[in-house]
Amino acid sequence: MSRDRPDPDAVVAADKRHVWHPYTPMDEWRARHDPLVVMGAQGPYLFLHDGSRLIDANGSWWVSTLGHNAPRLVAALEAQARAFCHVSLAGITHAPAALLAEELAAVTPGDLDQVFYSDDGSTAIEAAVKMSVQYHAQSGHRRSRFLALEGAFHGETIGATSLGGVDVFRRPFAGVVFDVVHVPVPEPGAPDYKSAFGAVERLLETRGEEFSALVVEPLLQGAAGMRLYPAGYLEDVAELCRRHGVLLIADEVFTGYGRLGTMWASALAGVVPDILCTAKGFTGGVLPMAATVTSQRVLDAFSGGRDKAFLYGHSYCGNPLGAAVAREVLAIYREERVLEGVPERERAIQACFERLARDAVTSRIVLGVRARGCMGAADLRDDPRLAVDGPVPTVETTDDLGGGYTAGVGWRVYEEARRRGAYLRPLGDVVYVTPPLNIPMADLERLLGIVEDSVRAVAARL
Ligand SMILES: *Cc1c(COP(=O)(O)O)cnc(C)c1O
Repeated sequence: MSRDRPDPDAVVAADKRHVWHPYTPMDEWRARHDPLVVMGAQGPYLFLHDGSRLIDANGSWWVSTLGHNAPRLVAALEAQARAFCHVSLAGITHAPAALLAEELAAVTPGDLDQVFYSDDGSTAIEAAVKMSVQYHAQSGHRRSRFLALEGAFHGETIGATSLGGVDVFRRPFAGVVFDVVHVPVPEPGAPDYKSAFGAVERLLETRGEEFSALVVEPLLQGAAGMRLYPAGYLEDVAELCRRHGVLLIADEVFTGYGRLGTMWASALAGVVPDILCTAKGFTGGVLPMAATVTSQRVLDAFSGGRDKAFLYGHSYCGNPLGAAVAREVLAIYREERVLEGVPERERAIQACFERLARDAVTSRIVLGVRARGCMGAADLRDDPRLAVDGPVPTVETTDDLGGGYTAGVGWRVYEEARRRGAYLRPLGDVVYVTPPLNIPMADLERLLGIVEDSVRAVAARL
């Protein structure tokens, strides 16, 4: 931890005067809430200014796949910082960017081996959207419309917001976001996905030639409330897209790097997308950096004249610090066999959420549970008697899917968990855990115990 410890009161005061927080109704927030002040973070833990520690149950918005401040990642960052921090990728290359691309190509599915760097999940998606439009235009087709899934979340740029399938997030930008057709997602875990598939099939059979790409979060929709859908659905829509010349863009920003137990969720459906986007776990949550990975076949549409070049590129494309860390992440996955450790954690998470659904007390408020890989989630019953005092401190919501702005039950559980030593930020009425993939079993058991006790404490009020 840093030697000069900042004064926490000064930090809070400066924050309240000047920091505009994400997804936060700022007037209510400033009037009623104080932020947690984090002074340090290590492994699954956040260390607060008052000397207490919290288990970071959501891995800092799902990025911290190897825990905070993994010593190997910090060392890789320091070593690269001493050499050089940043140079452009314009006619220049360097070992971190070049070797990372080679190593990433070796682990991405099928023929995906052409790596385009950007800054975060949103820009990885933005690059994929532009790539797909320009790809079709240069292959002689005018295909400018997009398909996405209901409940989808793909990030924050206008392109990514357009693809988003939660209406409340798009609504303020009506008139600016572009036209996207949102198709139904099969019910969580439903083996029968015929009607959801039929809807895409009818659309593509009548007007397939209008569509540039289908963008999906493979198998797990994170921001929608940790909703899982069957692999068969993804497999079948991928085949449908291929038949109709529609590109498949897999948004593996959250699911990639083993959240569901395999490096990529697409692989669980046996699908090789045309374009794959990765961020979040790409740098183990150390730096914002992303990649949009595609095949030589797609890149070929960008050859044959300088006017065909892909017109895209951020200042920090291929940032050496991020790339050095991302290489070390891949080395850790290989050498420390991170994915092999997931099934043991999955069993513990599954057992915990199954108990929540069965237990006589917790089942009063638990409507449904699901767990897969290093993710477990419970849908809670929103009941006016369980509302928190005053407004909830965020508008992160699963609104169109049953949760909501006014939902308080998730925040009740948050408060209980906070008291017991976990940071358990809900998504509307959905309480979930997405811990690091290598979280020590003892810490995981402790976290899951806090989840059970916190849900029980809230349910016992009914
Ligand atoms: C977080 C997320 C994004 C956006 O990534 P940022 O790094 O926050 O821009 C895009 N897609 C999915 C599936 C995500 O979970």
